[in-house]
Amino acid sequence: MTITEMDRQFVAHTYNRFPVELVSGKGSRAYDTNGKEYVDMGSGIGVLSFGYCDPVWQSAVTAQLGQLQHTSNLYYTAPCAELAAKLCEKTGMSKVFFCNSGAEANECAIKAARQYGRVTRGEACSVIVTMKNSFHGRTLTTLAATGQDHYHEMFTPLTPGFVHATAGDFDEFVRLTREYPVCGVMLECVQGEGGVIAMDPAYVKAVAEYARENGILVMIDEVQTGNGRTGKMYAYMHYGITPDIVSTAKGLGGGLPIGATLLGEKLADIFGFGDNGSTFGGNPAVCAGALSIVNRLTDSFLTQVTEKGSYIRARFDGAPGIESVSGLGLMVGLKTVKPCSAVVSECLSRGVLCLTAKDKVRLLPALNIPQQDLDFAVNTILDVCR
Ligand SMILES: *Cc1c(COP(=O)(O)O)cnc(C)c1O
Repeated sequence: MTITEMDRQFVAHTYNRFPVELVSGKGSRAYDTNGKEYVDMGSGIGVLSFGYCDPVWQSAVTAQLGQLQHTSNLYYTAPCAELAAKLCEKTGMSKVFFCNSGAEANECAIKAARQYGRVTRGEACSVIVTMKNSFHGRTLTTLAATGQDHYHEMFTPLTPGFVHATAGDFDEFVRLTREYPVCGVMLECVQGEGGVIAMDPAYVKAVAEYARENGILVMIDEVQTGNGRTGKMYAYMHYGITPDIVSTAKGLGGGLPIGATLLGEKLADIFGFGDNGSTFGGNPAVCAGALSIVNRLTDSFLTQVTEKGSYIRARFDGAPGIESVSGLGLMVGLKTVKPCSAVVSECLSRGVLCLTAKDKVRLLPALNIPQQDLDFAVNTILDVCR
């Protein structure tokens, strides 16, 4: 039995995989069983912040693995505390809850917001406004938060307490907050799965201001946009707002599972002992790796991320076969004349791994992708699209 056959027989068919079996990677390059080399413009869906087997990350993780790989949350460990301190230092947030994925980080954000609504305005104040076309995860509650009906259909009844607003329509948002007992508003500054769509800054600012004035929490889902992806530590920093809750995951761990929910001042004491938990959350080896990532997201490094993003945009803007370029920093959406899935398969056969999001080609390269690899990928995509 080949690996492909074994996978098809024994792994649940939730993913329609490409016919490629990857065996190793270094930096922005991945290799399959035939030794074919690929430049990876997807980085495991924005997870491999510093590429495959980045030596700094790898030595941080392996050193910790050789010392203490897990303890449970009954005991203190240095990597967990140090990562939390670093995240608070970089954001001005007050406390961090660690878990293992983006969906779980959003679950914690939702729990914190409901608890806050209950404490400040009573039991009924539990509704969260999210945006149409958003994506917040696959658990039953984060699916309910996700503003895309086609994700819901198979799994009803979902968790109640979510209403979906049209991004950009401030009056509708205000109406929803008057109609429902709203404790929070949750949004992605750049919708990722929804098609790499950056939110209008005026809308985000107006929503955040109105929310603050009305005791509604501002909850930013930075699972995909976070940890340097857009050229700032978190994408909300482009928008001049101060969130109450930030959830993040994907790129934070550099390739190992981690989720984090950052709680602002108002929520610093929202949880007491036993109010939330995760067996693996704050795992020392994962946190040691994440700390090695976050420590390198300096201002000068983030400037290079912005420059790489601008370079990609300049190359694609107005090029033959490219209708439009969207996103922020190294989160790039390409509306192509050819169907995005055809572009992605042709790129794959020519040695470039790309993603899609809705009807767009989506690029989330490693934040430190070498210029040579970036040029090869961009030239290949341009040639495929023309
Ligand atoms: C990927 C993603 C999630 C879900 O993260 P998982 O780690 O797959 O649970 C949630 N929100 C956004 C914005 C995402 O991009």
